[in-house]
Amino acid sequence: MTPVPPARRAAELRALLQTASYEYHVLDRPTLSDAAYDHAFRELQDIERAHPQLRTPDSPTMRVGAEPASALAKHTHLAPMISLGNAFTDEELSEWEGRLARLIGDDARRDGYVTELKIDGAAVSLTYRGGVFVVGSTRGNGVVGEDVTANLRTLRDVPLRLRGDDVPPLLEIRGECYLPFRQFEKMNEERVAAGEPVFANPRNSAAGSLRQLDPAVTAKRPLRFFGYAVAVADDAAVPFDTQWELLDTLARWGVPVAPQRKLCATLAEVNSWAQDVEVRVRGELDFAIDGGVIKVNSLRLQDELGVVGGREPRWAIARKFAPDIAETTLLAIQVNVGRTGSLNPFAVLDAVEIGGTTVRLATLHNFDLVRAKDLRVGDVVQVKRAGDVIPQVIGPVPEKRDPQHPPPITEIPTVCPACGTPVQRDEAEVAIYCPNVACPDRQLEAIVHFTSRGAMDIRGLSYARIEQLIAAGLVRDVGDIYAVTSAQLASLERFAAKSSESLVDAIAASKAQPLSRLLLGLGIRHVGQTAAQLLARHFRTMTALSAATADDVNALRGVGQTIALAVVAYFQDASAAALVRKLAAAGVNMTELVSESAGDAFQGMTFVVTGTLPTLSRTQATELIESHGGRVTSGVSKATTAVVVGDDAGSKLDKARALGIEVIDEAELQRRAGSA
Ligand code: NAD
Repeated sequence: MTPVPPARRAAELRALLQTASYEYHVLDRPTLSDAAYDHAFRELQDIERAHPQLRTPDSPTMRVGAEPASALAKHTHLAPMISLGNAFTDEELSEWEGRLARLIGDDARRDGYVTELKIDGAAVSLTYRGGVFVVGSTRGNGVVGEDVTANLRTLRDVPLRLRGDDVPPLLEIRGECYLPFRQFEKMNEERVAAGEPVFANPRNSAAGSLRQLDPAVTAKRPLRFFGYAVAVADDAAVPFDTQWELLDTLARWGVPVAPQRKLCATLAEVNSWAQDVEVRVRGELDFAIDGGVIKVNSLRLQDELGVVGGREPRWAIARKFAPDIAETTLLAIQVNVGRTGSLNPFAVLDAVEIGGTTVRLATLHNFDLVRAKDLRVGDVVQVKRAGDVIPQVIGPVPEKRDPQHPPPITEIPTVCPACGTPVQRDEAEVAIYCPNVACPDRQLEAIVHFTSRGAMDIRGLSYARIEQLIAAGLVRDVGDIYAVTSAQLASLERFAAKSSESLVDAIAASKAQPLSRLLLGLGIRHVGQTAAQLLARHFRTMTALSAATADDVNALRGVGQTIALAVVAYFQDASAAALVRKLAAAGVNMTELVSESAGDAFQGMTFVVTGTLPTLSRTQATELIESHGGRVTSGVSKATTAVVVGDDAGSKLDKARALGIEVIDEAELQRRAGSA
């Protein structure tokens, strides 16, 4: 194969990167993976370095981001918002340190390096005049961004006024807007329900939400913000000398700073930090990161080192992680029937390595999402795996679908794949359901849930054993568990006499579990742990609960209409009622012991608890107040008796002060309850 001449290859790469950048930054709808983009970008940089005459002024390597879209007003940044160079390996990071050493000798190491999470969000700048938030802008092309002040104002993380008396008169705070994973998924589900296209990833949804023309839309999207840099007018003084102090100062002024930052003395420390973040921390975070950022700590040295090519600072570098997204073929879509009967589609994939693990299966959430993403068996798909989270199929790669012979559109099942019963769909929900309570797949999941730790907690009854009991015909529903004998168990494979006896003992012991656990174990739709406890504490017996009307249940604080209707529907179902009778006949406890009221010191009073209390958790504080006849609400209003504050209390404390509501601490609360 004759090699492509560098000039032609450079032109090809430029065209590819320009299109991708437009789709990514302006449309918020990428068609290329970040890894593919980074790879092409590197290749272009290498060609341009080897052949400087091929460098063109419009090359993507010379610029940051994309031109601002036209509908919003423009904002010129106080100083350019730049991008970052990348290191993909520890060696590349050492080369970076080598370059620093050639420029400034050992000085680079003197104040150490600061490592920060590289938040995969949308970069913004917040302008403060006299400490008051006046303008918020996207990064845009780095020099000029879009004015999204009204939208950024809706973020609770963006302080409208900075705390402290050392805020420079004119200040821009730079940072990243992001959407936590959980909210991202919820938002996509809502978009599906509303028939709107889904966002490809949290970054694009954050960028898209920020650039809404209607701030009311942004306000509904729970965007968050982390700050990591500042800019001030020429020669204005700042109250810090290092990056580390800068971050501390931001936090002191009331700006959220990302967790996990570290001050490292050596590059070896930086490497072990990066390793820990990549393999452990990343999977535990509720927001996306695509690496770490390493910065020279001394701000004087940062100034001295400056920026190369108008794009990348010499004093900082991104340590990118192995992508957690890979492409593979979707071999089949199979369905798992959940305990509530929901049909949960999952993907069977051509085995693919992601972040050192082989992935063969991935969740597809629900059929509406499958249809919204237009996923078809035979498609090349993007799969994401982060930490311990179940791998997910992001979507198909449309360019890789053969336009002549596209695979057939995925049909939504009309009958349950396990029992053949026609499926049902709830208006308000995205899932489709198998309504047959006796469906074998539902029963298996229902029994697994019933015996689980948070519910009846029957130790020794593993998933595999439950499958075995069902296969042997010993158990068909949860009620049958209590009739199983040790002799029956001992006759099964892999059951020794001793383990059979201890399992039967564990089953018998579970009969004494309180009503709240039984309610959770029954798997009534929408009834989770909190609702089960509220119901059990209020109604105290299964008989009382089963006789309750939807209004009775709905009247309970913390229990809404959806739960109320689900509870009533459960007890109206003849087979569910029969199951409850069967459990009662087997001797399963149907009552909840509730500790008697501790007093009425707080009778008729309403409290709000905010911040971190020194000894009590939020739940314990609530229990203390409720057990003394008081009520706890989430918002401060004129009806609030007192606000109980701990450390880091935020806007609720401000509101209490504004309304003149009494503010007390935990010790005072305990004293008034008579418990201290
Ligand atoms: P970048 O995302 O690689 O890194 C620079 C950015 O990191 C900064 O501008 C800032 O916004 C952010 N950042 C997060 N945490 C930070 C911290 N603690 N300190 C400093 N900065 C922090 O570079 P970029 O110029 O923003 O975007 C280029 C990247 O975007 C590419 O590497 C690629 O992954 C992606 N991209 C993808 C496509 C695509 O088609 N998929 C197209 C264009 C760009």
